[in-house]
Amino acid sequence: MIQIICKSENYTYNVYHMLKAFYPSEEILSKMEEKASNYVMVLLPDGEKIPVGPGEVQNVAEDMDDAGSIEEKEMKYRIDVYIYRRLTEITGQSLAWGILTGVRPTKIAMKKLEEGWNQETFVPWFMDECKVSHQKARLSWEIANRERELLDRLDCEEGYSLYVGIPFCPSVCTYCSFSSGALADWKDRVEDYLEALLKELRFIGERSADRKLNTIYMGGGTPTTLTASQLDRLLTCIDENFSREYLLEYTVEAGRPDSITREKLEVLKRHEITRISINPQSMQQKTLDVIGRRHSVGEIVTAYHMAREVGFDNINMDIIAGLPGETIEDMQNTLRQIEDLKPDSLTVHSLAIKRAAKMELKDLDQDPDRISHTLSGMIREAAKAAEGMELFPYYLYRQKNIAGNFENVGYAKVDKAGIYNILIMEEKQSIIAAGAGASTKIVLKEPIPMPGSKKKKMTRLMRVENVKAIDAYINRIDEMIERKGEWLWR
Ligand code: SF4
Repeated sequence: MIQIICKSENYTYNVYHMLKAFYPSEEILSKMEEKASNYVMVLLPDGEKIPVGPGEVQNVAEDMDDAGSIEEKEMKYRIDVYIYRRLTEITGQSLAWGILTGVRPTKIAMKKLEEGWNQETFVPWFMDECKVSHQKARLSWEIANRERELLDRLDCEEGYSLYVGIPFCPSVCTYCSFSSGALADWKDRVEDYLEALLKELRFIGERSADRKLNTIYMGGGTPTTLTASQLDRLLTCIDENFSREYLLEYTVEAGRPDSITREKLEVLKRHEITRISINPQSMQQKTLDVIGRRHSVGEIVTAYHMAREVGFDNINMDIIAGLPGETIEDMQNTLRQIEDLKPDSLTVHSLAIKRAAKMELKDLDQDPDRISHTLSGMIREAAKAAEGMELFPYYLYRQKNIAGNFENVGYAKVDKAGIYNILIMEEKQSIIAAGAGASTKIVLKEPIPMPGSKKKKMTRLMRVENVKAIDAYINRIDEMIERKGEWLWR
């Protein structure tokens, strides 16, 4: 077990997540001691201590040629740098993303790009300031440039995107933390859910009539667990209530091959869906069995070919690095099979286990060195394979609880990048979300005090969340609509 004792709760978050990246399977407890003499004290499992007091913070400052008075933000930064340095000395490891614990490292690159920096100034600065590896610094810069090209095509003031959530799946995968339910458990409520969803969509459409809808993303869950006729009703409702005049992309996640039929694909095609996702996660049968996918590798291949036959020319595939029991060779084999299929984009996730998942960290390899080695090897292989398929990195985000602090990267052919994925990362355009657990994010014209913030922080991003539980969403749909209505469009 690891203990963190902090003088101020402001210091806990980053220190906790750095420690979690160095020691993924250790339990970490943190507590506050306002009267402690150190800003932070870390007690490692083998008894080693990392005290961070004024002397240590001063050391970092001297290295930085900047030993002046320290503001809170700067103090936090110096504490992070000091602890990071000590952890690299103690473990002999470094983290690819250094001290960064946030989920959107490319935002930093984007900001610098907007300030007029170039790659030659950004890469060494990012490596020094945030202890990021050379490879990740270059990747961040490359992605920020691609994101910017795509964002330039959008109207962030008048435009918006629509998210539609279908919270049912053929079975629940063991690593899943979404509020998705197995279809068999919910089959008697799917119609009620659909009715509630259609009501919410009609409301959003009516309120947004004078806005420009740029992208639609239907995810979940697995939207294709709906029957062909249910899908048809849902897509017809969207056709009738939203204009396509400014629409650049319309994605439906047909994620699970065991939910895909030719009839459903034809419904999607008839409603002019432009992009679909068929997600193997792994092409190793032993892994699919372990993670509760309940479909075969053969079904993935069949569904993919069927989608091509129906006419889809923009198909994404998702895979996950670090699934239980998988080796780098397994990943290489998965990638060879994906290369044979030639998807238009490939999203490579690093396995993250969240609290809501059935799988726990203890179900995975316990050796942090081995996890880190395997994951970085898999990520490297995936990047190589993507390059070989002429798919280029276009978006990146990190999740909490990823061993070794790795990331998820989307690769795509030049004109096949998922615009919605970038919008989610960059938070520059409003996303109006419908369905259970769906989270609406409205970019406001002026900053407002963040609701619930004790420190009166200001924000320009207003979040309005729908309830997660499927039953509660159905029963409280009018309340969900009313809550959204308060913010559409201020
Ligand atoms: S298909 Fe996706 S949403 Fe559904 S259970 Fe599996 S991981 Fe969760």
